[in-house]
Amino acid sequence: MKIHEYQGKAILAQHGVPVPKGKVAYTPDEAVEAAKGLGFPVVVKAQIHAGGRGKGGGVKLAKRADECAAIARAILGMRLRTHQTGPEGRIVRRLLIEQGVDLAGSKEMYLAILVDRGCRKPVFMASAQGGMEIEEVAARDPQAILREWIDPVVGFRPYQARKLAFGLGLPPATVSKAVPFFSSLFQAFEASDASLVEVNPLLLTKAGELVALDAKVNLDDNALFRHPELLELRDFDEEEPLEVEASQYSLNYIKLEGGSVGCMVNGAGLAMATMDIIKLAGGSPANFLDVGGGASADQIKNAFRILLADRDVRAVLINIFGGILRCDVLAEGVIAAVRDLEVKVPVVVRMKGNNEEKGQQMLRESGLDFATADDRTEAAEKVVAVAGGAR
Ligand code: ADP
Ligand code: MG
Repeated sequence: MKIHEYQGKAILAQHGVPVPKGKVAYTPDEAVEAAKGLGFPVVVKAQIHAGGRGKGGGVKLAKRADECAAIARAILGMRLRTHQTGPEGRIVRRLLIEQGVDLAGSKEMYLAILVDRGCRKPVFMASAQGGMEIEEVAARDPQAILREWIDPVVGFRPYQARKLAFGLGLPPATVSKAVPFFSSLFQAFEASDASLVEVNPLLLTKAGELVALDAKVNLDDNALFRHPELLELRDFDEEEPLEVEASQYSLNYIKLEGGSVGCMVNGAGLAMATMDIIKLAGGSPANFLDVGGGASADQIKNAFRILLADRDVRAVLINIFGGILRCDVLAEGVIAAVRDLEVKVPVVVRMKGNNEEKGQQMLRESGLDFATADDRTEAAEKVVAVAGGAR
């Protein structure tokens, strides 16, 4: 789960990481009130679940109240486009009003903690070249990225913090501040079961202080049950509406760009294979919806409704392996959905496994116009033929 910068900074602050003072604002009036409380200058920062806001015009300095009001009015409601949002951008609904930190004589660095799945350990990544995308640094100058792996049993050790601090070239007087800074950051990462804590830029001020000027915190969905207080930070406005709706029915719906075939499958592996066969047949998937192992007929119907709400869908491929979800239950759900929802796009069904003959018979006798296929290649070719090739 992604959260906003101001929420991430609140978590960091709780663990003792220095962040600028700030307050969230939903209206220009709230923005001005927050700014007056903090004192000018302030920085007005668009809160969306994507980075690159500075370059996109979503981070602005305000020196007076009228300026703050004007900037807040301009940013609230704007469609902010950054390299992370894609061309459609994101509507800004919240602002972070934050103390304007003096950047004169300061240095912007990069610091992050993430899970290295290959090593099964958290890893600190740091670079003296901050303020720019880490991917860019990694591509141009991989040596410039420091890595320090943390043994989950032993924890983060002070010598590791010093190693990072010297590696970043921090002045000696700042090294003693870096040790508690890095340790607090790791504590925040661990205590919130985060999958990523990224501070870009990590600011070294002229006076030699370290400040987290930006914060991106991603939380591990599988650990959220341990953190009811963090679950409240979820912002549904930042999520794909159909994906939110699907999750309410315990369905896993993923929207994909540029395709025309809607895919209903059970299981993530079958989803991947189904997308591959569609591509091999010359088409392209618009989405996939994983109904999981033991879906009911009612869930199948909801799944169908969600698939069809995607405007890109020109045809649907149902590729199901009947295990716990029996093929006759699937057929019952699909028939009900096609009847009730007055489905207008062609539907190709391929099902194998438990009660497959019974399911096929139900489809044939329904009087509805299904195309069926016995084998996966045939199914993909049929659906691509009616959906048209890749768009
Ligand atoms: P993004 O990564 O989405 O562009 P950042 O929070 O990193 O957003 O802000 C972009 C830039 O704005 C930073 O690199 C920094 O130079 C400046 N900035 C951000 N917050 C502050 C602040 N509180 N005071 C002064 N400058 C800031
Ligand atoms: Mg940033």
